[in-house]
Amino acid sequence: MQAPATAATATAVPFDQYNPSEEHLMLRRTVHDFAEREVEPQALESDRSETFNRALFNRAGELGLLAITVPEAWGGAGLDATAAVIMAEEICWSDPGLGISVLAHGTLFVHNLYTNGNDEQRARFLPKTVTGEKLAGLCMTEPDSGTDVLGMKTRAVRDGDVYKLTGRKMFITNGYVDAGESGGRHETGDCYIVYAKTGDEISSFVVEKGMPGFSLGQRLKDKTGLRASTTAELVFDDVPVPLANRLGEEGDSTIHMMRNLELERLVIAAMSLGMARRCLEIMNRYASERKAYGKPINSFGQIQRHIAESYTEYMVGRSFVYELAHKIQLDKPGHRMETDAAKLFTATMAKNVADRAMQVLGGYGYFGESVVERLWRAAKLNEIGGGTLEAHHKNITRDLARHPEAIR
Ligand SMILES: Cc1cc2nc3c(=O)[nH]c(=O)nc-3n(C[C@H](O)[C@H](O)[C@H](O)COP(=O)(O)OP(=O)(O)OC[C@H]3O[C@@H](n4cnc5c(N)ncnc54)[C@H](O)[C@@H]3O)c2cc1C
Repeated sequence: MQAPATAATATAVPFDQYNPSEEHLMLRRTVHDFAEREVEPQALESDRSETFNRALFNRAGELGLLAITVPEAWGGAGLDATAAVIMAEEICWSDPGLGISVLAHGTLFVHNLYTNGNDEQRARFLPKTVTGEKLAGLCMTEPDSGTDVLGMKTRAVRDGDVYKLTGRKMFITNGYVDAGESGGRHETGDCYIVYAKTGDEISSFVVEKGMPGFSLGQRLKDKTGLRASTTAELVFDDVPVPLANRLGEEGDSTIHMMRNLELERLVIAAMSLGMARRCLEIMNRYASERKAYGKPINSFGQIQRHIAESYTEYMVGRSFVYELAHKIQLDKPGHRMETDAAKLFTATMAKNVADRAMQVLGGYGYFGESVVERLWRAAKLNEIGGGTLEAHHKNITRDLARHPEAIR
């Protein structure tokens, strides 16, 4: 006799944690379509020529990808952390160079300013940054301090309604743009959130292009990967920054920084997922088509190991990142250790998957046209940027010692 259908069995729809709603699925399709049709055709050439494709970046703005987590009332898409993950995964499936520019602009500046700024600052800075008309970034790292972020030397000293900000910031994504039609001249992007010491505490300020004393120190060329994004050293020489450009209260920004790093690390983990998935797709297809000794190479055990391990590690990373994205509430911190762990795992996973893909493709994999060569170079960055592997080891171990119950 058949059991009567219960309410649960009658209405059960399999839950798709990677596309938990119709809106997420639509977003994935839209971004993937954008990646295939518009991003992919330029990805190799932009990487080779170290060209930041501003028109394409602005197109990402038109699609709402530069302010995905900002409420619609402020011009954003009003979506959640899962949407930010979907977007980063799909863009980086094609072009992590464009992906890191979108991350630096949309997560490190736009989301940060929305979260930590006041309404007057939102009204001043968001309209032109959510569209991409103005190019933005975040300045945390310095020539002498990266991991040791609290050791920063940049200082802001208050003088009435102005702070005088002095220091240098290193490795800043979106740090410069070509100026002028004929090229050859370069200048800073339009606005940056800059972390600086005010006494013993850290505060953050929006520094805008054209402020006296703010300049492009050096363009940092010849990166290993992600060459379609710009990276620069920026110089601040007694820059008069109005009090109205300080985010939050003086000394508040260690909290801002930690809170924003959670979303940053989650999005970087999603970038790794996108690169790994593309490499897996390519190696899987190639191994079914390429023959050696009269057989497809996927009939050989060693090639099977490359493919099977890559798939397994990718799926573990994917499950972790999406489960975490589902838990994260954008207005509340509380997932520091898990976001460190997700980035720690996925960074090395993507690097290894790209490496195996190159191995499976043999000589063809060693050339740019294979795509895996470009992703192999790009994947390494995530073991360094946004926190090195060692920084994640340190943070996770410290947090676990404090909260052993988190293991359960
Ligand atoms: C392409 C690119 C884009 C970037 N974009 C930005 C950006 O937009 N904005 C921004 O602010 N920064 C940016 N960065 C900087 C990036 O976040 C830093 O490079 C990173 O945090 C590491 O800092 P560091 O390079 O100074 O290395 P260091 O901190 O000097 O580290 C050097 C080595 O020492 C290790 N180490 C340091 N401290 C410890 C410790 N306590 N225990 C064990 N090992 C340790 C590190 O893990 C590493 O292996 C970018 C970097 C790159 C390469």
